[in-house]
Amino acid sequence: MTENQCIFCGIIAGKIPAKKVYEDSYVIAILDINPRNPGHTLVIPKDHAGTIFEMKNEDIGNVFQSVRNVAVKAINAMKAQGANIVQSNGAVAGQMVPHVHFHVIPRFANEGPVSIEAVLQVKKMNEEMLDKIAEKIESAELENPSDIEKGIEEAVERAVPEPKKPVKEKTDFSPAKKKSKKEEELEEIDFNF
Ligand code: 5GP
Ligand code: ZN
Repeated sequence: MTENQCIFCGIIAGKIPAKKVYEDSYVIAILDINPRNPGHTLVIPKDHAGTIFEMKNEDIGNVFQSVRNVAVKAINAMKAQGANIVQSNGAVAGQMVPHVHFHVIPRFANEGPVSIEAVLQVKKMNEEMLDKIAEKIESAELENPSDIEKGIEEAVERAVPEPKKPVKEKTDFSPAKKKSKKEEELEEIDFNF
């Protein structure tokens, strides 16, 4: 998808309407068209990048500061007790719009502690597997600039953002349903890495 076809670039350029709640030099923030809670806001960097891996190094700190500012505004305006800040990279991670963005989702005491386990079930992993995973992540060389560039290139190739099905308008604010016993059962997965 080119920047010309990008829905978020269209919103940033003012060609596509959106409910803007914040803007600075680095980002705009708009209400999500499918709010998961009142005040669900998308913080969108102005510079087009597909995923976080493609963002300019010098933008990342500024953008994250803006994300924090928007979260503060949204929490206080909605009188929420917390917020999730969610950012997905790649179609497999659930990214639907291939322009990097951060969801700020105010969370309320009366909706119950729905956390990341509601989306991703806890996986059973033995000590040996955890040691192997820790060793693999720790040993990935990212100390000098060329290692970082190489690592980013690989991550960009992996985290391909692909548009999925079109988004439909939905404004149901009801809290998420409780998980069933079966859903709460631990899942055992062979990751084969
Ligand atoms: P993702 O799954 O890519 O992290 O989330 C994309 C989000 O963008 C979804 O929550 C979706 O509702 C929202 N979205 C998609 N198209 C539009 C749009 O045209 N306007 C607004 N305000 N939000 C959109
Ligand atoms: Zn874009």
